[in-house]
Amino acid sequence: MLDVKLKFQPGHADGKDWMSGGPVKVLFWNVTRSCNFNCQICFSNSGAPDPDELTLPEAKTLIRRAHELGVVDVIITGGEPFMRPDLLEILSCMAELGITARIATNGSLLTEKLVERIRRETRTTSFLISLDSLDPCIYSEIHRVPPIQLEKALEALRFVRAHDFHTTVSIRLTPRTLPGIIDIVDRAADEGWATISLQRPIFSGRVEGAWPPMFDVLPLLEPVFEHFLSMPSRWRVETYMPWARYHPVIQKLEEKIPVGHVGCGAARGIAVIQPSGRVVPCVCFDVPASAMGNVRDQDLRAILQESPVRAMMKRPQDYGICDGCIHLSTCGGGCRATAFALSGNLAGADETCPLRRAAPRQ
Ligand code: SF4
Ligand code: SF4
Repeated sequence: MLDVKLKFQPGHADGKDWMSGGPVKVLFWNVTRSCNFNCQICFSNSGAPDPDELTLPEAKTLIRRAHELGVVDVIITGGEPFMRPDLLEILSCMAELGITARIATNGSLLTEKLVERIRRETRTTSFLISLDSLDPCIYSEIHRVPPIQLEKALEALRFVRAHDFHTTVSIRLTPRTLPGIIDIVDRAADEGWATISLQRPIFSGRVEGAWPPMFDVLPLLEPVFEHFLSMPSRWRVETYMPWARYHPVIQKLEEKIPVGHVGCGAARGIAVIQPSGRVVPCVCFDVPASAMGNVRDQDLRAILQESPVRAMMKRPQDYGICDGCIHLSTCGGGCRATAFALSGNLAGADETCPLRRAAPRQ
């Protein structure tokens, strides 16, 4: 995802070189496509469940196989993960093998009792709860739920804080959410939320009300960065855009605060399991051409280590991606999901790269 994270406390990512190789250690797992919200922007285009989602026995087989392959951390997402009645069993199975979980949720189904059980019975380390706005009307418009649901999300945040989980709030960056971000930064400092994840939609899934793909949103974030810099409890900023270190706004920011460039782990250090077992490189990159395999009928090791998509992500120079750019070995060729969304070509150009904007290539 094209995220910028404002961090008040250390979290999970360490900004190591994502092009340096090594096996996939972290999985994203969209455990269901079922969702009780109908957000304008949804990377997984969720709503109704897929007809062929992995059963609990299949899910447990997947967990065991992932463990054998050295997967240590799974980010549970959806759809809304808590729409799956067996989610606690899935988390417990992971915990038995020492696998930690991070859960991305809209928060609407979390109760204090459930959060307490998750703390006691699983190895969950953190929750990411979508907030998007502190204005009930805007929250309602973005998530297409009654305004009262904002209170539920805030209550869920209180539960996860009370049980000492690392707490992230996510905001999808749109013209509607931008004016309210500073209020969320202030609220985060007051409530002890550790991370604010600003997510720029990529043109995959549902993308209503977003800026057009070529619109450069980073300059609009400068007042947010300035506000964050003024806070006594700030820690650092993390970027997840492969080319972030070449963007002038980020370069300016880097003069004032440590910036971790976490970059693009897609098919390099991370992979995504879809509800029906299909494996794709990242949550925003699920098109037939990017499919790496399916855990139902293929071995997970072969999918994660030998798929042609992984080969392309690890050696973009062999596919003509960003030919001639001296930063290819550190950038990896930009965002493949964006490149595909813009060009329809797996090896196409990520035209949102700031160096391309500055000097368009032929
Ligand atoms: S392809 Fe990489 S940079 Fe693009 S959205 Fe996926 S993880 Fe992020
Ligand atoms: S031209 Fe390609 S490799 Fe170079 S910085 Fe831009 S996206 Fe990255």
